[in-house]
Amino acid sequence: MADHSKFYIDGAWVAPKGTGTIDVINATTEAVIASVPEGTPEDAAVAVAAAKAALPGWRATSLDERAKYVQRLSEGLMARAGEIAESVTAEVGTPAPFSQIAQGNLPWMMTSSYAEIANSFPFEEQIDNSLVIREGVGVVACITPWNYPLHQVTAKLAPALVAGCTVVLKPSEVAPLTAYILADVIDEIGLPAGVFNLVTGTGPVVGEALVTNPDVAMVSFTGSTRAGKRIMELCSQQVKKVALELGGKSPFIILDDSPAEDAVRAGFQSTFQNNGQTCIAWTRFLVPESRKDEFVTVAREVAESYTAMDPAQATDFNAVGPLASKAQQDRVRSYIAKGIEEGATLVTGGPEQPEGLEKGFFIKPTVFADVTNDMTIAQEEIFGPVLSIITYKDDDDAVRIANDVDYGLHAGVYSADRDRAVKVARRIEAGQVDINGPQFNVKAPFGGYKQSGLGREYGTYGLAEFLEVKSLQIPLG
Ligand code: NAD
Repeated sequence: MADHSKFYIDGAWVAPKGTGTIDVINATTEAVIASVPEGTPEDAAVAVAAAKAALPGWRATSLDERAKYVQRLSEGLMARAGEIAESVTAEVGTPAPFSQIAQGNLPWMMTSSYAEIANSFPFEEQIDNSLVIREGVGVVACITPWNYPLHQVTAKLAPALVAGCTVVLKPSEVAPLTAYILADVIDEIGLPAGVFNLVTGTGPVVGEALVTNPDVAMVSFTGSTRAGKRIMELCSQQVKKVALELGGKSPFIILDDSPAEDAVRAGFQSTFQNNGQTCIAWTRFLVPESRKDEFVTVAREVAESYTAMDPAQATDFNAVGPLASKAQQDRVRSYIAKGIEEGATLVTGGPEQPEGLEKGFFIKPTVFADVTNDMTIAQEEIFGPVLSIITYKDDDDAVRIANDVDYGLHAGVYSADRDRAVKVARRIEAGQVDINGPQFNVKAPFGGYKQSGLGREYGTYGLAEFLEVKSLQIPLG
């Protein structure tokens, strides 16, 4: 059974070298629900050594065998999907119905998609007299955030295992508990020792020890742009492969032929998803200037149909739970104060604690109108249930505003005319664009333009990140 006082290294639960611990807090009650070791650089080194030792054996394991392990992992995670969803609801504040889908089910679905892809992926290609082989890059350090804590792990782990890589995982210190469930499942399915290793701790200590370890061939990171830049800088010292999934400030362009109610409702499904703690959340609604009042009125109605409440008690998709930590709550409140200070109109919400909820890191569902794209709340990732409404003059202006940010992770376009929406979507600088409401495809490439990241996750594109390319020139005949 998973032991929260230990690490999972080389196929066993191992005591940490240090004595520090990190409390895990319930975002709603603010109670300490567990604690995990605060790892040290020595712990990170032991985990990397285990992954390095396991690499030759795992590489030599047939692709078919590796895919079978990945499928068994998916089945093990599926069996514990309810427990995983509950854990994330407590740690991160995800409302229960959405948690079941995104936190509980997505990890096993993502994992199973890789068992399937393994069987059809072109690992070898003949180009004239060259045999081109793609093989696992080596030991991978996976460093992940708290907002979809297990999903972000499996989006790295499953393709890394299929590729023939061994892994050291450092999950977020804010929400580490589902990584322990994962390690438990890995132990149950009998994955060879050292192929997967778990170390907990903070980013600057354990994270950087992994990133700078010369035996780590690649770092796959999801998190803030700030940490991503630091990791890329450290990787450059060893010319180390790095994949970065970073922040976003995603636009939702509502074209002028759109029915206001349908478009706005669809948009909020993204904006307030997981209480706004979603990297791809559409946090800038771009609406036609000529219909501004209509869109603002509908946005207020829709935002006010969401209720801040205990996420474990939520029964529908209109619940907004707390943010994951006090630090996040403070951060989001200061952005709301900044929006007011810079002259945006507060339509609904605000920085105060919602009525009737004395405890918990809650933020009122908040909407700003009269936002210009140069304001802080239009440019910086807020990571809470806060929407900015910005007007545009015509389609060209909408595209210009949509692209006028440092980020390029995601976007949405809404129109009564699907072809028109697709034309606009083609002009947006972002890794994914959804037409007429949020959609999700576990096999479609996911990742960012500009400062939203480097590389892609999910599907065949995600697998390719973990592969090196070798070309053998073989004499013909
Ligand atoms: P964070 O960057 O603070 O932490 C992410 C992980 O990196 C944690 O495990 C942390 O311990 C570690 N870390 C921090 N500093 C490090 C360092 N110097 N070296 C090595 N590791 C370090 O991010 P967070 O607050 O946990 O998550 C929220 C952020 O993640 C948001 O910016 C969000 O947009 C982003 N995110 C991006 C995606 C995506 O796919 N693009 C998905 C989810 C979240």
